Amino acid sequence: MSAATGAAGGRDPRFDILFEPVRIGPVVARNRFFQVPHCNGMGHLRPRAHAAMRGVKAEGGWAVVSTEEVEIHPSSDLSPYVEGRLWDERDVAPLALLADAVHAHGALAAIELVHAGINSPNHHSREDALAPSHSVSPHGYAPFQAREMSRADIRAYRDWHRTAALRARRAGFDVIYVYAAHDLSLAMHFLLSRHNHRRDEYGGLLENRVRILRELVEDTREAVGDRCAVAVRLAVDEKLGAAGLQADGEGRDIVAMLAELPDLWDVNVSGWANDSATSRFAPEGHQEDFVRFVKRVTSKPVVGVGRFTSPDAMVAQIRRGVLDFIGAARPSIADPFLPRKIETGAIDEIRECIGCNVCVSGDYTATPIRCTQNPTMGEEWRRGWHPERVPVSARPERFLIVGSGPAGLECARVLAARGHEVQVADTAREPGGRVTRESRLPGLAAWARVRDYRLAALRRSARVGLYLDSEVSAELALDSGAQRIVIATGARWRRDGVGRANRLPVTGFDSPAVLTPEDLDRGLRPRSPVVVFDDDHYYLGGVLAERLRAEGLEVTLVTPAPLPSAWTVNTLEQRTIHRRLLELGVDLVVNANACGFDGERLRIECTITGRQSLRPAANVVTVTSRLPEEELLRALAADPGRLEAAGVVSLAAIGDCAVPGTIAAAVYSGHRYAREFDCAGGERPEPLREYAALD
Ligand code: ADP
Ligand code: SF4
Repeated sequence: MSAATGAAGGRDPRFDILFEPVRIGPVVARNRFFQVPHCNGMGHLRPRAHAAMRGVKAEGGWAVVSTEEVEIHPSSDLSPYVEGRLWDERDVAPLALLADAVHAHGALAAIELVHAGINSPNHHSREDALAPSHSVSPHGYAPFQAREMSRADIRAYRDWHRTAALRARRAGFDVIYVYAAHDLSLAMHFLLSRHNHRRDEYGGLLENRVRILRELVEDTREAVGDRCAVAVRLAVDEKLGAAGLQADGEGRDIVAMLAELPDLWDVNVSGWANDSATSRFAPEGHQEDFVRFVKRVTSKPVVGVGRFTSPDAMVAQIRRGVLDFIGAARPSIADPFLPRKIETGAIDEIRECIGCNVCVSGDYTATPIRCTQNPTMGEEWRRGWHPERVPVSARPERFLIVGSGPAGLECARVLAARGHEVQVADTAREPGGRVTRESRLPGLAAWARVRDYRLAALRRSARVGLYLDSEVSAELALDSGAQRIVIATGARWRRDGVGRANRLPVTGFDSPAVLTPEDLDRGLRPRSPVVVFDDDHYYLGGVLAERLRAEGLEVTLVTPAPLPSAWTVNTLEQRTIHRRLLELGVDLVVNANACGFDGERLRIECTITGRQSLRPAANVVTVTSRLPEEELLRALAADPGRLEAAGVVSLAAIGDCAVPGTIAAAVYSGHRYAREFDCAGGERPEPLREYAALD
């Protein structure tokens, strides 16, 4: 037996318009919810996992469910990134799994055919990279070039694309994309005069640069258009001013030239960092100003994205004539059941995307997708997890969860859905732990949705009691009557500077002038000049520097990495963070380690030369690594006899208390415990694996 984690009411007539069917060429979408292509780190290597993930979205009510980029030829090999692949006939069957999974729930399956041109390093295939003109790889600083395509290459490219479209139709896809967006595809490279320096009929005037895109659309229609819709995904603006496509320039002209040729326009702002901007830097609906012209230029349906999670905002997009389809990648990852919840009136059950781009980091690290809000994302096949249903336990038990951070709240939500009685206690006056604190930092307000979604679920449950302002000691825990105690007490930042660069405490960091992020939360105000020492490299050091600078302090950010907030390259934010810090006037000192503090000056050492220098610092804020808050865990674990005497059958730590990590990891940890604490034989189930076929 299993239980849905929420209940449903009736649909608000205000939202009826979102459920109108829309024709796309030869096929009809059942409503206006369109999961646009997005990467997932599963692709051609993990086809079963991929199919199951897309199938769940179809089950959740999306009318169109798309793949990610699908490489059409070995000369478009994106390895080590794991994308879709349609190089030859053997790739048809794995993709058919996906199309079948989507069709099983009444949705249309869309495939994004891609030749990535200069963007394909071809590390695995070792084919020559191709481009409109001789050019250097944009891939990091990789020492390779792409060669200028001959006319024969262009003919071959068209043929590969056409063959891939035929294979996609055989795999069962209903919508075939021609991709010219994000500066990531050959078709787009031909459009751009910065990439295309040709003097033949494919270069020069825009009419010529657009030729290959027109031909690809015509070829695709001719090959599969009887049964499949043909979509164009186009970047209408690149936010590069005159150096790139502009919505009031060539971006618009391209749509006008091809207006009625495709069956669907999927339009966005390039590159990927602009398209998938995080909530720290862009609000919901941030692309509207760029894409609104498209519907005035074509009669074909238009899909666009904007991290839409509010049904009212979606309705406004349709009513104001901006879009025909509500496109979504991230909102469909955070909540695959978003359309169903709107359809059934379960609005307060929507698990809203927080715009953190942890999902994107899966692609960057070539690993299966994960999501901060939705711990089941990527686990649909591997662990058999469903985003809305959990198995009901045979026997209800009484739980005490200590800590109401993301781990504790998620654990409580799932345990309650499984039929258990749950008490959650927290020392703090507000629930949410670190997400409540961090959501007060500049640009991070949407992160509170991690807390709010879970609190709303707990409020709907009669089985959960939430006790705030309640410090739990070992005695209180033992007296609580709980059969199972779960410690979710989180972690604290180290004060001694220990992290990656310093494996031992930094001399002088025992000074009262050294502060931690928690000290700032408690209201301690540093004095100028303040140095933020960031050896954590994710968002926190950078965002604290931003906040302190915005408060008027003189701020230096010192980091052993070559870039500030270096790991945020994986969330597409690094450049934007870097720019903001520079624009705010934060002094950036990179490749530098902190190696001593005398209360007034921080001694720093160049990580390359070892040369040392002094920086004036009235205060140092140290963001290096964290230690679990495990005192309560240790006190309880120290005396198993007392636990047994109190009737406690298990004691466990979850989230940052078990191992400090991301918010996504804490949510996942809480979720996993709640699903697996009672598995048969006490052994956690082994996840499924996909093995390479030995054909
Ligand atoms: P996680 O990310 O693992 O969920 P957080 O640090 O966000 O962890 O949350 C931990 C929560 O635990 C904080 O809100 C903190 O106030 C609470 N907490 C820590 N120790 C205790 C305790 N002994 N009794 C009750 N609450 C506690
Ligand atoms: Fe949204 Fe973050 Fe989940 Fe991505 S990881 S879908 S940005 S909540």
